[in-house]
Order: sequence, then structure tokens, then C-alpha cells
Amino acid sequence: AEVEASRGCPFGCVFCAREYFRGVYRKRPMATVLAEIDGLLSRGVEYVYFIDELFLADRPLLSELAARGLKFGIQTRIDIWKPRDLELLGRAGCVSVEAGLECLTPDVRALLGKRSAMSTEQMVERLVMAKSNIPFVQANLVDVGCESPDFVAEWRDRLHSRGIWANDPVPIFPYPGSNIYRRKWGEPDDLAWERALQDYHAGVTRLSELQDAWSMPAAVGS
Ligand code: SF4
Repeated sequence: AEVEASRGCPFGCVFCAREYFRGVYRKRPMATVLAEIDGLLSRGVEYVYFIDELFLADRPLLSELAARGLKFGIQTRIDIWKPRDLELLGRAGCVSVEAGLECLTPDVRALLGKRSAMSTEQMVERLVMAKSNIPFVQANLVDVGCESPDFVAEWRDRLHSRGIWANDPVPIFPYPGSNIYRRKWGEPDDLAWERALQDYHAGVTRLSELQDAWSMPAAVGS
């Protein structure tokens, strides 16, 4: 089942569909979230996915989850997690973390608006720390054409050797509601998704390792 503890994100990555509803960070009351989770548990649910754009280290919530024996997954930024919070995250029942690393070079990350005080090495160490507490840890990568395939392959090997899954980078999807979409086409209209998908298809030349077929094109009307 899907649960949300919060919406929004205080960061401003240019590829993120955060405009309109996912901008300002706001939390739902913990009692409301826990009541939903308890309702799901009473119906036999064993795993929930927090669909929060950015699952933060909320120690009171994590402590409550730890008492419930639930399994859950999250998406987050690894650079906002302290070691002691990662330990609590694992104890709370988190079995899956997707962390957007995006690119391996700080300058390229900065181009995407994903600035961080941490270096790539430091982020990898934090991912390794997460992996020592959580069974599945993924570093999400995107391809913006600025990093050589050999360089990326070397980093992916390093991550894989430490138990962290890093995907074969895929091009950025110009989500309606993202800064990238706005720069290309302005305000999204009723055909925004069709337009974004068509643009993505036009620029993608190979299937990702997770695809076994091309997705259907979307017709864009006049
Ligand atoms: S990609 Fe993640 S960190 Fe960046 S703005 Fe979106 S939710 Fe926030």
C-alpha cells in the first residue's frame, strides 16, 4: 500500500516535477499517518511505500514505525541522513531506499540544481552506511550527456561492489511541472504529458536495462 507522510521538497532540482503541488514541504500530522498505517496493518498489509517526494529523517515517526513491525520503502536524498538516523531507519523496518544521486560529478549535479555540501565519495559512504542497515539501497543515475560511459561504468562497479544498486543512466524525462519542461515549452497545458513523452522518445536511442520494449508513442494534437 502507498502512504504519504509529507508532500513537497525544499530543494529545487530542475528535472523534478515539483511545481504546483510538490514545492513547499509540509508534513501530515503523525497521528493521521499512524492511524492509516494501523488500519492497513489490521487488513493484513505488510509493506508500505512512502510516496513522499523526499522522506526526511523524522525520528518520532521512525520510532513509532519501529514498534509496529512493518516493512516499508522510501525515496530520499542520502546527503540529508545522519548515520544515527540511518540506523533508526533500518530498525524502523525500512527495506528499500531509492536515493537520487543523479550524476557522479559535483559540477554536473549543480547544473541540475542538485547541490550538496557532500562530495560524491561522501555520498557513496553514506549509501554504504544505509546498506549496512537496509537490505536494498539504490542510487538513481540520469544521463545528461556530460559524463563518459567509462567513467560512469567505473562508478557503477564501485557501487555494486559495495552492495548498492546503481542503474544504467537514462535520459531525463521533461516532466510537466519541472523547470526543464517550463524552459522548453512554458506553462503545461492539456497536452503537456503527450508532448513530454514525444520529446523523450525522440531523444532516447536505446532501451534501459529495465525495459524490454519501447513504450507506445503518445499522439500530440495541434
Ligand atoms: S529530485 Fe528530490 S531533492 Fe530534488 S527537488 Fe525533487 S524531491 Fe527534492
